[in-house]
Amino acid sequence: MKVIDLIKSTDKTAFSFEILPPLKGTSIEKVYQTINTLQEFNPQYINITTHRSEYVYKELGNGLFQRNRIRRRPGTVAIAAAIQNKYNITVVPHMLCSGFSKEDTEYMLLDLQFLGITDLLVLRGDKAKHERNFIPEPSGHSHALELEQQINDFNNGIFIDGSSAQPPQNRFSYGVACYPEKHEESPNLEQDIYWLKKKIEAGAEYAVTQLFYDNQKYFAYVERLRKDGINIPIIPGIKPLSKLSQLTVIPKTFNVDLPQDLAREVMKCRTDEEAHAVGTEWCINQCRELIAHGVPSIHFYTANAVDSVKEVAKAIF
Ligand code: FAD
Repeated sequence: MKVIDLIKSTDKTAFSFEILPPLKGTSIEKVYQTINTLQEFNPQYINITTHRSEYVYKELGNGLFQRNRIRRRPGTVAIAAAIQNKYNITVVPHMLCSGFSKEDTEYMLLDLQFLGITDLLVLRGDKAKHERNFIPEPSGHSHALELEQQINDFNNGIFIDGSSAQPPQNRFSYGVACYPEKHEESPNLEQDIYWLKKKIEAGAEYAVTQLFYDNQKYFAYVERLRKDGINIPIIPGIKPLSKLSQLTVIPKTFNVDLPQDLAREVMKCRTDEEAHAVGTEWCINQCRELIAHGVPSIHFYTANAVDSVKEVAKAIF
């Protein structure tokens, strides 16, 4: 069942989470372990992140450097297929502009189509580590909106070289990202919402938020979207804080504020274990309030947080 149908089919808040493909050279067992840990909470769907290619420079020893393109976490399509087959669950691979040419995207869509995977999360993707600003691949997309247009063309049987085929029987259905505290590059929230609206007009059926720790910001954001005529489900993305260092790393990495009540409690902690306990309790309360508010689904970011997510899920699902 498609994500949009799953979340619309019930009033109960769904549980979902996203996992990262393991580093190149490691085994898929790590992915299965994460899923096995969280399976008792009956996830409705599982997202699989995608990670762009990076350029690394290898010293050749003669003063020269060789530029190599690598992907440290490949395998999104294969992992999505493996999870779908093993667990018989809806999978949502992430599709990116960053590090992907239009040709790469077309091949990824073809692979997914052959595998019967039709749910996607459509994203621009992060900039490369060495880049100040996002730079698309020479034949790639600059924004999620353009990637949506390529997927729409594919759904209509149109390939990037202009040739056409029978439109696929099962069309791709997709969601996009949104930012209650605005995207870091956006001049203001209004402009960010302007582009979100365009992404919805292009075909996004739901949006998943950037992680946040202050429910009031999420509630205010959703209220504002509704006033702007945006009526698709806005799925909260949640990640429990679990380390002392995250007090400063999270705001910088994700462009979000930590509420003062949370920051104050974390500042009192002397160990990561103490911070983990504070972060988990905060997250449980946050999720209880979101559920009471009737959110369609809570989407957990599990990177380095599987144990905390399990504790939270145990308390709320
Ligand atoms: P866009 O929608 O393209 O927006 C980027 C910026 O440009 C925003 O400021 C927006 O306001 C503006 N904008 C949008 N459209 C246009 C336009 N047409 N013209 C001009 N300006 C425009 N990253 C990964 O690398 N891999 C992942 O798997 C991944 N998963 C994610 C999952 C979720 C739920 C979220 C919230 C984020 C995820 N990210 C992932 C991070 C995401 O890729 C970054 O936040 C990225 O910087 C922006 O992606 P976007 O899809 O929101 O981009």
